[in-house]
Amino acid sequence: MDLLIGTGNAGKLNEYRVLLADVPVRLLVLRDVGLAEMSVAETGGTVEANARIKALAYSQASGLLTLADDTGLMVDALGGAPGVDAAYYGGPGLTMAQRRARLLDALADVPDERRTARFVCVIILANPATGELVTVQGTCEGHIARAEAEGEYGFGYDALFIPQGYDRPWSQLPPEDKNRISHRGQAARQIVPWLRRLAEASAAAEP
Ligand code: IMP
Repeated sequence: MDLLIGTGNAGKLNEYRVLLADVPVRLLVLRDVGLAEMSVAETGGTVEANARIKALAYSQASGLLTLADDTGLMVDALGGAPGVDAAYYGGPGLTMAQRRARLLDALADVPDERRTARFVCVIILANPATGELVTVQGTCEGHIARAEAEGEYGFGYDALFIPQGYDRPWSQLPPEDKNRISHRGQAARQIVPWLRRLAEASAAAEP
């Protein structure tokens, strides 16, 4: 059974390759189905609505079973910002390094105990054959570091996010550690049983 991962984010793709490694599906990326250039406006206003927009857009365009996610980074001292707009924080045209710098600036006067934050990830699985949508969510609590920590792992805001119970950000933690506790890891583990059931049904239907 084919499963399209509806993202152009290489960091997310790497994580899904590991998180779904034991599921009997063939993972396809947007490039494999000629959709690498397709842009989808994330105008839903919530993490769930944006995940739905992406899952529906890519599943309808490809005709394939499609998994898409959307992630928000909610920082308590900023009233929940960057939130659902984490990908655009600080304005258009910035690099991720510049967005991380903006976040550190915004928190410059905030003491350690008030730097709490969480990542929220909604995954939606869209099945164009049945119209069915499956929605799952994962959350990971932590706090924002005082400075960016160099590290060999991760992407996005990983160099700033220290998960609860750790003293280092995800950029310095091996991917196995991140996947075990992360927002995306938690959501992916809930979607796995759905994928297994669909894969079994698909194998049983083969002549
Ligand atoms: P989106 O889900 O692609 O809209 O992601 C929103 C923003 O959060 C983007 O800037 C991503 O790079 C960032 N992001 C998404 N997931 C993660 C993560 O697991 N760690 C760090 N940053 C992330």
